[in-house]
Amino acid sequence: MRVLLVEDDEMIGRSLKQALEGAGWSADWVRDGELAQSALGDGGYTCVLLDLGLPRQDGTEVLRRARERGDATPVLVLTARDGLDDRINSLDLGADDYLLKPFEFRELLARMRATSCAAATAPRIRWWAALRCNSTSRRAKCW
Ligand code: CA
Repeated sequence: MRVLLVEDDEMIGRSLKQALEGAGWSADWVRDGELAQSALGDGGYTCVLLDLGLPRQDGTEVLRRARERGDATPVLVLTARDGLDDRINSLDLGADDYLLKPFEFRELLARMRATSCAAATAPRIRWWAALRCNSTSRRAKCW
C-alpha cells in the first residue's frame, strides 16, 4: 500500500515517513502543494496524508483540484488548524477524515486503515446528471 505524504515541516515529515514505512506502508513524501498535484496526477496511491498550510499551493487547493479532476483517492487532512470552519471546509471539499496535530501515530494508522479499507472494498459509484458510473465494475448506466 502506497501513501502520499504532503508535509512541509521537515521534522514532522521525516518522522512520519519513517513511522509509516515501519508500519509497512510505502511512503512518498512531498513538501509543497504543486509537487502534491503532480504526484497525485501520476496516481497509484492508496491514500493521501495532506497538511493544509503548504508552500506554493495550499492543501485545500490541492484537495479541491483533485476532487474536481474526479480523483477519489482517500484524503486524510493532518493539520494544526483547529477552527471549525477549517474542518467543515475540508470535509465539504472531499476530505475523508481530519486529524488535528499533534496526534498519536496509532490513531493515524487506525484512521488510515479504516479509510483505505472503505475505499478498497466499497464500489466507487459516481453520478453525473443521469449517468451512474461504477469504477469498480467499470460499468455505466443511464437512468
Ligand atoms: Ca505546514
